[in-house]
Amino acid sequence: MFLEPQLNPNRQTGWVEVVCGSMFSGKTEELIRRVNRALIARQKVLIFKPAMDNRYDDIKVVSHNRNEIHSMPVEFSHQILALAHDCEVVAIDEAQFFDENLPKICNLLANKGIRVILSGLDMDFEGKPFGCMPQLLAIAEFVTKVHAICVVCGGVASYSFRLSASKKQVLLGETDVYEPRCRHCFTKGKQIEAGLENEIPFE
Ligand code: ZN
Repeated sequence: MFLEPQLNPNRQTGWVEVVCGSMFSGKTEELIRRVNRALIARQKVLIFKPAMDNRYDDIKVVSHNRNEIHSMPVEFSHQILALAHDCEVVAIDEAQFFDENLPKICNLLANKGIRVILSGLDMDFEGKPFGCMPQLLAIAEFVTKVHAICVVCGGVASYSFRLSASKKQVLLGETDVYEPRCRHCFTKGKQIEAGLENEIPFE
Protein backbone atom coordinates (compact mmCIF):
# COMPACT_ATOMS: atom_id res chain seq x y z
CA MET A 1 0.00 0.00 0.00
CA PHE A 2 1.27 3.46 -0.91
CA LEU A 3 2.39 5.61 2.01
CA GLU A 4 3.08 9.29 1.59
CA PRO A 5 6.84 9.87 1.63
CA GLN A 6 8.45 11.49 4.64
CA LEU A 7 9.67 14.84 3.48
CA ASN A 8 12.09 17.47 4.56
CA PRO A 9 9.83 19.63 6.77
CA ASN A 10 11.90 22.71 5.96
CA ARG A 11 11.24 22.56 2.27
CA GLN A 12 7.95 22.37 0.40
CA THR A 13 8.61 19.66 -2.15
CA GLY A 14 6.22 18.69 -4.90
CA TRP A 15 6.09 15.42 -6.77
CA VAL A 16 3.97 13.42 -9.21
CA GLU A 17 2.39 10.06 -8.39
CA VAL A 18 0.35 7.90 -10.77
CA VAL A 19 -2.16 5.16 -10.01
CA CYS A 20 -2.78 3.13 -13.18
CA GLY A 21 -4.46 -0.10 -14.19
CA SER A 22 -7.34 -1.58 -16.17
CA MET A 23 -11.05 -0.96 -15.76
CA PHE A 24 -12.37 -2.19 -12.38
CA SER A 25 -8.88 -2.30 -10.86
CA GLY A 26 -9.70 0.19 -8.09
CA LYS A 27 -7.74 3.17 -9.48
CA THR A 28 -10.29 5.79 -8.53
CA GLU A 29 -10.81 4.09 -5.17
CA GLU A 30 -7.09 4.47 -4.49
CA LEU A 31 -7.12 8.12 -5.65
CA ILE A 32 -10.01 8.83 -3.26
CA ARG A 33 -8.16 7.06 -0.41
CA ARG A 34 -5.09 9.27 -0.94
CA VAL A 35 -7.20 12.43 -1.21
CA ASN A 36 -9.05 11.58 2.02
CA ARG A 37 -5.75 11.09 3.87
CA ALA A 38 -4.51 14.48 2.63
CA LEU A 39 -7.80 16.05 3.81
CA ILE A 40 -7.40 14.43 7.24
CA ALA A 41 -3.93 16.01 7.34
CA ARG A 42 -5.73 19.36 6.76
CA GLN A 43 -4.13 19.93 3.39
CA LYS A 44 -5.86 21.97 0.72
CA VAL A 45 -6.81 19.55 -2.06
CA LEU A 46 -8.29 20.26 -5.48
CA ILE A 47 -9.70 17.45 -7.60
CA PHE A 48 -10.14 17.58 -11.35
CA LYS A 49 -11.61 15.29 -13.95
CA PRO A 50 -12.08 15.60 -17.71
CA ALA A 51 -15.35 17.35 -18.58
CA MET A 52 -16.20 14.54 -21.02
CA ASP A 53 -16.38 11.81 -18.36
CA ASN A 54 -19.94 12.20 -17.11
CA ARG A 55 -20.87 8.57 -16.55
CA TYR A 56 -21.99 9.07 -12.96
CA ASP A 57 -21.98 12.67 -11.93
CA ASP A 58 -20.94 16.04 -13.32
CA ILE A 59 -19.06 17.38 -10.33
CA LYS A 60 -17.97 14.32 -8.42
CA VAL A 61 -15.26 11.74 -8.86
CA VAL A 62 -17.08 8.49 -8.21
CA SER A 63 -15.52 5.04 -8.09
CA HIS A 64 -17.28 1.90 -9.29
CA ASN A 65 -18.32 1.06 -5.76
CA ARG A 66 -19.81 4.53 -5.37
CA ASN A 67 -17.28 6.23 -3.14
CA GLU A 68 -17.38 9.86 -4.11
CA ILE A 69 -15.66 13.17 -3.67
CA HIS A 70 -16.29 16.61 -5.15
CA SER A 71 -14.31 17.52 -8.24
CA MET A 72 -14.06 20.17 -10.93
CA PRO A 73 -14.67 19.05 -14.51
CA VAL A 74 -12.21 20.75 -16.89
CA GLU A 75 -11.90 20.51 -20.64
CA PHE A 76 -8.18 21.24 -21.09
CA SER A 77 -5.19 20.49 -18.88
CA HIS A 78 -3.97 24.12 -18.88
CA GLN A 79 -7.13 25.07 -16.96
CA ILE A 80 -5.82 22.98 -14.04
CA LEU A 81 -2.74 25.19 -13.81
CA ALA A 82 -4.89 28.32 -13.70
CA LEU A 83 -7.25 26.89 -11.06
CA ALA A 84 -4.68 25.17 -8.84
CA HIS A 85 -3.17 28.13 -7.05
CA ASP A 86 -2.94 28.18 -3.29
CA CYS A 87 -3.33 24.42 -2.80
CA GLU A 88 -1.04 21.67 -1.57
CA VAL A 89 -2.45 18.69 -3.42
CA VAL A 90 -3.91 18.36 -6.93
CA ALA A 91 -5.70 15.11 -7.80
CA ILE A 92 -6.64 14.27 -11.39
CA ASP A 93 -8.93 11.36 -12.24
CA GLU A 94 -9.26 9.67 -15.67
CA ALA A 95 -5.95 11.25 -16.71
CA GLN A 96 -5.87 9.24 -19.96
CA PHE A 97 -8.65 11.42 -21.40
CA PHE A 98 -6.71 14.67 -21.05
CA ASP A 99 -4.74 16.38 -23.83
CA GLU A 100 -1.03 15.92 -24.48
CA ASN A 101 -0.06 18.96 -22.37
CA LEU A 102 -0.98 17.22 -19.11
CA PRO A 103 2.54 15.89 -18.34
CA LYS A 104 3.97 19.41 -18.74
CA ILE A 105 1.23 20.85 -16.51
CA CYS A 106 1.92 18.19 -13.84
CA ASN A 107 5.64 19.02 -13.89
CA LEU A 108 4.88 22.75 -13.52
CA LEU A 109 2.59 22.04 -10.55
CA ALA A 110 5.11 19.70 -8.88
CA ASN A 111 7.92 22.21 -9.46
CA LYS A 112 5.81 24.76 -7.58
CA GLY A 113 5.78 22.41 -4.57
CA ILE A 114 2.41 20.77 -5.21
CA ARG A 115 1.79 17.04 -4.76
CA VAL A 116 0.08 15.78 -7.94
CA ILE A 117 -1.89 12.53 -7.75
CA LEU A 118 -3.13 11.07 -11.04
CA SER A 119 -5.32 8.10 -11.75
CA GLY A 120 -5.84 6.65 -15.21
CA LEU A 121 -6.18 3.71 -17.58
CA ASP A 122 -2.71 2.70 -18.75
CA MET A 123 -4.03 0.73 -21.77
CA ASP A 124 -7.01 1.11 -24.07
CA PHE A 125 -9.33 -1.70 -25.17
CA GLU A 126 -6.76 -2.89 -27.71
CA GLY A 127 -4.05 -3.22 -25.09
CA LYS A 128 -2.25 -0.12 -26.41
CA PRO A 129 -0.87 2.65 -24.16
CA PHE A 130 -3.62 5.21 -23.57
CA GLY A 131 -3.18 8.93 -24.38
CA CYS A 132 -0.46 10.65 -22.37
CA MET A 133 -0.28 7.91 -19.69
CA PRO A 134 3.17 6.68 -20.84
CA GLN A 135 4.59 10.20 -20.44
CA LEU A 136 2.92 10.61 -17.05
CA LEU A 137 4.33 7.28 -15.86
CA ALA A 138 7.77 8.39 -17.01
CA ILE A 139 7.79 11.72 -15.16
CA ALA A 140 6.20 10.38 -11.95
CA GLU A 141 8.30 9.84 -8.83
CA PHE A 142 5.86 7.17 -7.66
CA VAL A 143 3.90 4.68 -9.77
CA THR A 144 1.32 2.22 -8.46
CA LYS A 145 -0.20 -0.33 -10.83
CA VAL A 146 -3.40 -1.82 -9.47
CA HIS A 147 -5.08 -4.94 -10.87
CA ALA A 148 -8.58 -6.26 -11.36
CA ILE A 149 -9.60 -9.92 -11.42
CA CYS A 150 -10.06 -11.64 -14.79
CA VAL A 151 -13.77 -12.44 -15.14
CA VAL A 152 -12.97 -15.42 -17.38
CA CYS A 153 -10.39 -17.35 -15.32
CA GLY A 154 -10.03 -15.56 -11.98
CA GLY A 155 -6.41 -14.57 -12.65
CA VAL A 156 -4.86 -11.15 -12.19
CA ALA A 157 -6.24 -8.79 -14.84
CA SER A 158 -4.44 -5.82 -16.37
CA TYR A 159 -6.44 -5.52 -19.61
CA SER A 160 -9.85 -3.99 -20.34
CA PHE A 161 -11.65 -6.23 -22.83
CA ARG A 162 -14.39 -4.47 -24.79
CA LEU A 163 -17.54 -6.50 -25.28
CA SER A 164 -18.96 -4.16 -27.93
CA ALA A 165 -17.72 -4.18 -31.52
CA SER A 166 -17.07 -0.41 -31.56
CA LYS A 167 -13.55 0.57 -32.58
CA LYS A 168 -13.62 4.06 -31.04
CA GLN A 169 -10.79 4.47 -28.51
CA VAL A 170 -13.11 6.29 -26.12
CA LEU A 171 -16.35 4.49 -25.36
CA LEU A 172 -17.58 5.25 -21.88
CA GLY A 173 -19.29 2.49 -20.02
CA GLU A 174 -19.15 -0.08 -17.29
CA THR A 175 -19.76 -3.80 -17.01
CA ASP A 176 -22.04 -3.70 -20.04
CA VAL A 177 -19.18 -2.57 -22.28
CA TYR A 178 -15.95 -3.76 -20.66
CA GLU A 179 -14.64 -6.63 -18.59
CA PRO A 180 -11.26 -7.03 -16.91
CA ARG A 181 -9.15 -9.85 -18.31
CA CYS A 182 -5.70 -11.34 -17.81
CA ARG A 183 -3.18 -11.41 -20.68
CA HIS A 184 -4.15 -14.94 -21.74
CA CYS A 185 -7.93 -14.36 -21.78
CA PHE A 186 -7.52 -10.93 -23.38
CA THR A 187 -5.46 -12.23 -26.32
CA LYS A 188 -7.69 -15.28 -26.66
CA GLY A 189 -10.73 -12.98 -26.87
CA LYS A 190 -9.05 -10.81 -29.51
CA GLN A 191 -8.22 -13.91 -31.56
CA ILE A 192 -11.79 -15.17 -31.41
CA GLU A 193 -13.00 -11.69 -32.46
CA ALA A 194 -10.64 -11.78 -35.43
CA GLY A 195 -11.66 -15.33 -36.35
CA LEU A 196 -8.09 -16.56 -35.70
CA GLU A 197 -8.85 -18.81 -32.78
CA ASN A 198 -6.46 -21.58 -33.78
CA GLU A 199 -3.58 -19.34 -34.84
CA ILE A 200 -0.54 -18.59 -32.72
CA PRO A 201 -0.99 -15.54 -30.44
CA PHE A 202 -0.37 -12.19 -32.15
CA GLU A 203 1.48 -9.11 -30.87
ZN1 ZN B 1 -7.98 -14.88 -17.49
